[in-house]
Amino acid sequence: MIDASPVVTPVWRDEDLVPISALEHWSYCPRQCGLIHLEQTFEDNLYTLRGRRVHERAHEPDETSERGVRTVRAMTLWSPRLGLIGRADIVEFHGDRPLPVEYKSGARREWRHEALQLCAQALCLEEMTGQPAPEGAIWHHATRRRRPIVFDDAQRAEVERATAAVRAMVAGDRLPPAVDDPRCRHCSLHDACLPEIAAHPARVRGFLGELFYPAPDDGGEEDG
Ligand code: SF4
Repeated sequence: MIDASPVVTPVWRDEDLVPISALEHWSYCPRQCGLIHLEQTFEDNLYTLRGRRVHERAHEPDETSERGVRTVRAMTLWSPRLGLIGRADIVEFHGDRPLPVEYKSGARREWRHEALQLCAQALCLEEMTGQPAPEGAIWHHATRRRRPIVFDDAQRAEVERATAAVRAMVAGDRLPPAVDDPRCRHCSLHDACLPEIAAHPARVRGFLGELFYPAPDDGGEEDG
């Protein structure tokens, strides 16, 4: 039987809108996402500085056409259905079909976090244009290599799950726990997070136990 019920687009409050960039942070480490999007913590390291330089060019609004491909830089994106907002470095239009391209400074082997962000951009573009966006690309500045990404159903579902999880984290105002694993070595928020301590409550209790606490003042008379 055909479901004839109308599709209802949710009405999002401003505070419930999720930045597309938060999905990459969430995918890398939920606590990193919480530190940035709950506590507005952001610290640069070599990777973020490189990334910012690479993004500078891509974030200058601009539109060009070459060999039948229209290229739009710094395009604002949104999804009324998912409550996502953000900006694409580049969107190429091959005919009417949009293809998002994300600039990355490094040649990271682990690129699934960026791919999730890219997939979220594709979902926004599909909603905005009414055209399918089955694939995108990550441009690795360090290697000048373009990595094509095909979005499958699992990745699309993951975007929806991650969006709901980030929204719930912000609504609950709770910082996710630290992980203290190899991710922390390259994390720009390491010093703000202190995973070696934050991920091990027993260590914190041990440190507290070693602190010197002055004896409470008994309120008695001082000796003459
Ligand atoms: S230092 Fe580790 S636990 Fe903390 S935010 Fe970064 S990756 Fe997550």
